[in-house]
Amino acid sequence: MTQLDAPQHAAENENPLWDTIVIGAGPAGLSAALMLTRGRRRVLVLDHGVPRNRFTDHMHGVLGHEGLAPGELRRLGRAEVEAHEGVFDEAEVVSVTPIGGDDGARVHVATKDGRAFRARTVVVATGLRDELPNVPGLRALWGRGVYACPFCDGYEYRDRPIAVLAAGEHSDLKAHLLRQWSGDLVLLVNGSFTLGEAEARSLAARGVRVERSGVDEVLAGTDGRVRGVRLANGSELELEAIFTNPTFVPLTGMLDGVDIRGPEHPESRVWVVGNAGDPRANVPVSIGQGAAAGGDVAFALLMDEIAAAGRV
Ligand SMILES: Cc1cc2nc3c(=O)[nH]c(=O)nc-3n(C[C@H](O)[C@H](O)[C@H](O)COP(=O)(O)OP(=O)(O)OC[C@H]3O[C@@H](n4cnc5c(N)ncnc54)[C@H](O)[C@@H]3O)c2cc1C
Repeated sequence: MTQLDAPQHAAENENPLWDTIVIGAGPAGLSAALMLTRGRRRVLVLDHGVPRNRFTDHMHGVLGHEGLAPGELRRLGRAEVEAHEGVFDEAEVVSVTPIGGDDGARVHVATKDGRAFRARTVVVATGLRDELPNVPGLRALWGRGVYACPFCDGYEYRDRPIAVLAAGEHSDLKAHLLRQWSGDLVLLVNGSFTLGEAEARSLAARGVRVERSGVDEVLAGTDGRVRGVRLANGSELELEAIFTNPTFVPLTGMLDGVDIRGPEHPESRVWVVGNAGDPRANVPVSIGQGAAAGGDVAFALLMDEIAAAGRV
């Protein structure tokens, strides 16, 4: 290093140029980070510790990890990324801004605590927030007998007394779906959902009961899990689990106005993976999307480097 290089080197140490900043250390972000660190890229992972499935103790349907605690998968994933020289920092990202700096930086990432990072590419893997129907007691039991996904949590309640709490226009279909797991099943018609006559006949033909009096409260047992519901008519119904349809809110506010990488914006250097871009992505799908994006990002970085070499 010459004396003339010294200030630039100091600035680089203070605010390094990352090949990729991954925002979110859930299954999607960790998987992208693992691909990229194994590809010998300089990767920073920013996360502020609020994963979507923090309400549940066990993950299901994740091949090779059946029943594992979600936090344990994140711990293992982080250790694997760190073993390949990935760097982690606790921070809440508030904005992602595309730039065209001479220094090779293509994106600025700003955090709530006032820091700014520079990167050539960004992977947004921030997940989503589940907005639940507004029924007293429901939110407190989310992940403890209240669920959205039958493929994740239905098997544990097979042949047990369960319900679908109507929310949204396809609630009758959700009840038909849950019939695969239990014959002791009731559709709780609630709020704005209206069940048509034909749909009611179809449910009855498949042995699904319908309760129309509305739900006043979801009740917890002494074990802190669902034990039933209190209906608007005053009666109580004993249940072990309730499946419902949350509204999915992607946590991508930091991307307002940013063009996402895709066929329409091939020049963008921002990728969105996992639940942040796809509410249906469970853990294995999120891992797959992260890995695919990791490969795409590595290729984009390579193309930039080939182009830069051509300009020499
Ligand atoms: C109750 C419940 C049970 C579930 N059970 C299963 C199951 O059994 N099997 C299954 O496959 N799936 C299950 N899921 C779905 C599973 O949670 C998601 O598929 C998975 O978490 C998606 O991974 P992700 O990496 O996209 O998002 P997440 O796991 O939510 O990770 C996102 C990360 O981004 C971070 N983040 C968010 N915003 C910011 C920000 N602004 N700045 C910095 N960091 C940020 C968060 O802290 C978090 O760590 C369940 C979900 C719920 C709610």
